[in-house]
Amino acid sequence: MPAIKITDLHKTFGDARVLKAISLEVAKGEMVALIGSSGSGKSTLMRHLSCLTLADRSSSSCVEVLGIPVQKQGRAARDIRKTRARIGNVFQQFNLVNRLSVLTNVLIGGLSRVPVWRSMLGWFTREEKLEALKALELVGLREHALKRASELSGGQQQRVAIARALMQKAEVILADEPIASLDPESSRLVMETLERINRELGITVIVTLHQVDYAQKYCQRAIALQAGEIFFDGPIAAMDGQMLSRLYGTQVGAES
Ligand code: ADP
Ligand code: MG
Repeated sequence: MPAIKITDLHKTFGDARVLKAISLEVAKGEMVALIGSSGSGKSTLMRHLSCLTLADRSSSSCVEVLGIPVQKQGRAARDIRKTRARIGNVFQQFNLVNRLSVLTNVLIGGLSRVPVWRSMLGWFTREEKLEALKALELVGLREHALKRASELSGGQQQRVAIARALMQKAEVILADEPIASLDPESSRLVMETLERINRELGITVIVTLHQVDYAQKYCQRAIALQAGEIFFDGPIAAMDGQMLSRLYGTQVGAES
């Protein structure tokens, strides 16, 4: 069973056809870069996978994550919560609770696994704390556990967000532009962390990157979107300069 299977996904906003007949599969344990210039539809595609957006009703679109269709509406949508708990999200804006400690931010990732009443009490077991510290160790931030999240640099906060997804026991991590607002050194550390959890823990990782250079460095496979269509899907090494300039137009190499 693939980690992700999308068949004929269509998404329209008003008159704008943002995703057009997208079909793709990602196997469990893969790390895939989703690339393409700004506005090509990367985030919209990711939002379908996180069950945050519904495909066009008129279409025969099907989106499956871990073998479960996640585009259900109405009452059937309740089942999606269980699937969502198995998907970790990492965003460009790190989405941590700034005034809480790094450790607590990681512990929050585990709340989807405990009964609601306990999550409301806001306390955690010793085992959970040890597990959170282990997740922080994995992302190289063990010694920062007791700092406030806001005291960390952007790149460190992003790695806390990854640790939170580990605490959640996410089987699939969707990272939408995780390095877009980071300097090169922090970007490197975040990409290395994603690569590491993919390699060591077998977590499936889909990472959107609007520039191709980090994708080339850290991912074997790329899926490139252009104006809502799949422009390329395959080994990233097979994308030559000509293809890249067709994909990005004049933007090639214009790292912001
Ligand atoms: P990317 O992440 O590749 O930059 P997006 O998926 O964010 O691209 O956007 C693709 C296109 O869809 C853009 O033209 C954007 O303006 C449009 N779009 C995205 N979300 C909405 C929305 N909620 N309403 C209307 N248009 C949207
Ligand atoms: Mg985007």
